[in-house]
Amino acid sequence: MSKRGLLVVISGPSGVGKGTVRNEFMKNEDLNRCYSVSMTSRGMRPGEQDGVDYFFVTREQFEKAVEEGKLLEWTEFVGNYYGTPLEYVEKLRNEGKNVILEIEVEGAAQIKAKCPDALTIFITPPSMEELERRIRGRRTEAEEIVQQRLAKAAREMTMVGQYKYVICNEDVSLAAELISVIIRRHMEKEDA
Ligand code: 5GP
Repeated sequence: MSKRGLLVVISGPSGVGKGTVRNEFMKNEDLNRCYSVSMTSRGMRPGEQDGVDYFFVTREQFEKAVEEGKLLEWTEFVGNYYGTPLEYVEKLRNEGKNVILEIEVEGAAQIKAKCPDALTIFITPPSMEELERRIRGRRTEAEEIVQQRLAKAAREMTMVGQYKYVICNEDVSLAAELISVIIRRHMEKEDA
């Protein structure tokens, strides 16, 4: 039987570029990685695909999944639910795959409590001004939502001390390379 894979949690404030960094380091196939697609009740953004970016569900479907214990962690973020399907993560880890979660900080805290062996990585912006610029740069959300995301981001930044590793996303390819190095080191440790 293959060895159980790592659980890698990539977190940090909304807008910091977690998705971009994740897409970059996921190109490294030697990391034997798989992305865990989350479930959400938020509406689809232009360009997003069901089953690829998220499993898009209704609030009722999400609440049912919570009641049935189907989520490893979940939270309500700026009016929408987000959560990690448990079964998929377990199956892949049991097959020896390293499973990557890209989630906000409350979910990451739940993972830390449930899975103390999780490899937790926090991504910071080069500055709060830059973070605001990135959040506004999306241009897909109303000002009220932007304000809520900014306020939330300031609170999220205070959670940085809870993580094993902290990486600044000044340069996407560098941040992705640093994360790859961390994952490789942990893979070697598991093999040792
Ligand atoms: P967005 O609406 O911008 O796609 O995501 C909002 C926030 O929810 C981001 O910080 C994203 O990382 C986080 N998120 C995405 N999926 C999950 C999940 O399954 N669980 C938790 N806790 N947060 C998630």
